[in-house]
Amino acid sequence: MAILRDPACVIDDTGLILDANAAWWHTLDHSGTATHWATTVAVADRDLVVGELLVAQSSAQRVDLECRLVCADHRPRWFRVSIYPVDDQGPDIQWLCTATDIDELKTNHARIAERSSMQTDMLDVSVDCIKMIALDGTLIHMNRAGCLALGVPEGVGFGQEWLPLLPGDVRAEGEQALQAARTGQIGRFAGRSELPGGRPQYWDNTLTPVPGPDGATARILCVSREVTAEREAQNSLRANQERLALATHVGGLGIWDYDVTEDRLHCDDTWYQIMGRDPDQPIGSIAGFRSFIHPDDVDAATEVTHTAAELLTAGADYAAEFRIIRPTGEIRWVRSAAALQRDADAVRAVGFVVDATEEVLAAQTLLAEKVALEKEKESLARQSLEDALTGIANRRRLDHELAELRRDRTRSAQPVCVGLIDVDSFKAYNDRYGHLAGDTALRRVATALRAAARDGDLVARYGGEEFAFVVVGTRDPQPILDRFMAAVATLGIENADTPTGLLTISVGCVVTTTFAQQSATTLLELGDEALYEAKESGRNRYVVYPADSRSR
Ligand code: GH3
Ligand code: MG
Ligand code: MG
Repeated sequence: MAILRDPACVIDDTGLILDANAAWWHTLDHSGTATHWATTVAVADRDLVVGELLVAQSSAQRVDLECRLVCADHRPRWFRVSIYPVDDQGPDIQWLCTATDIDELKTNHARIAERSSMQTDMLDVSVDCIKMIALDGTLIHMNRAGCLALGVPEGVGFGQEWLPLLPGDVRAEGEQALQAARTGQIGRFAGRSELPGGRPQYWDNTLTPVPGPDGATARILCVSREVTAEREAQNSLRANQERLALATHVGGLGIWDYDVTEDRLHCDDTWYQIMGRDPDQPIGSIAGFRSFIHPDDVDAATEVTHTAAELLTAGADYAAEFRIIRPTGEIRWVRSAAALQRDADAVRAVGFVVDATEEVLAAQTLLAEKVALEKEKESLARQSLEDALTGIANRRRLDHELAELRRDRTRSAQPVCVGLIDVDSFKAYNDRYGHLAGDTALRRVATALRAAARDGDLVARYGGEEFAFVVVGTRDPQPILDRFMAAVATLGIENADTPTGLLTISVGCVVTTTFAQQSATTLLELGDEALYEAKESGRNRYVVYPADSRSR
């Protein structure tokens, strides 16, 4: 035992140390009453060691175990302990116990195990599929993401060929990349994986050769980054672009893109076509575009430059309709619309322009027709209430106004004067001066009567050489009647068949304070009676029936 360099001791059946070599006493802790073998074992491992010792005793066989022994510095270290019987003659078996320090080995081992598990964790948390491939194309190792993508159970599927796990149409490219990596190059290809019932996933695969000790490629590392989202975005972008191109083509839309901040304008070919210009001589700024626009519309068309900020704030789009002049001199109407965007600190307007000439011209014609129609309607309406010969109100207007007055409770509650005016001896006038002179005289009388009345009073041609009037708000018609008589006298129209030698009128007037209760016909009949009285009593005068009188 003394020749053993590792600590060694001899113990009896109960574990008491009978003898030990120098190394034992030097190396291990004996501060206590350490004459029992087990007391040198670290408390944590003591049960294990005692258990093993019992096994050794019962079988009288050698036992090897790894456990921590407390050393002279009171710290535990790992030892490989071998216990075997040294004397099997006699009832008291003795046991030789040797302890080889394996602490460093054990610590290294633990460190390596930890590093390895860390590497596995690292690979497994990666969303990229990482696989190590042998030169013959079989899988050596694959991380969790790779197993999931290819539908291979974790830790089971290794050793099988990699390419057959991919869809048929990407295998050729995969094989090429594999071949590149075998010859020391980096291989790359766009792959796809499809699991039954799942959506296809797209991968960007990079195959990197891993050199062996001799420098030649020993294995191939394949890292596959998923690019499904990018791929789908690209596909949808392409589909959108195709749809937009089709829409602009079918709809004859010219696209323009204007960097408001930098004053940079870019337009597509259709845009130039609409402008009647050559796309090979592009314009780059609003200044260049101004010369295309009709001078009267320049400001409206280019307002986007001024209003960009307000439009952005309001979240509104730009829209304008304006004329352009083609180099041939042809004027076309175009409609332009754009959405404004702010990216970083630049403001951009992206929009389209469409030739709207036919539409605008049709709308303009329609508008002109509508205006003409409105005018005609107005004129017709006026005519229907106007006397053709004299231009003053006609009988229809009189009836209409009387009906309106009846509906107006405020005005109809006031006193109302209704009267009839008749030109004296007009038959004789016509006979003497001719019918045309008669017409002229009627026109002059009508105008004079109208002028003698106030704006709110109504004077209408009642028929033939008779006129009617309605005055609201007075129970004394005398002033207006005097004005009527004077107005006609002032005209000084000669009529040789009257006592004065001038054209005169006779007037019959009725005053009512209960207009609403009277019928218009009754009032006009009473007026006619008063007129008759004026005629009978010599003409060129007026007769007034006082308020609400019903008889002469
Ligand atoms: P009196 O003083 O009684 O009213 O006599 P008068 O001749 O005026 O009355 P009468 O009813 O006999 O004749 C009215 C005349 O007015 C007859 C008709 O030729 C004339 N007259 C009616 N309307 C017009 C018209 O629009 N133009 C012209 N020129 N004459 C008209
Ligand atoms: Mg008459
Ligand atoms: Mg008359």
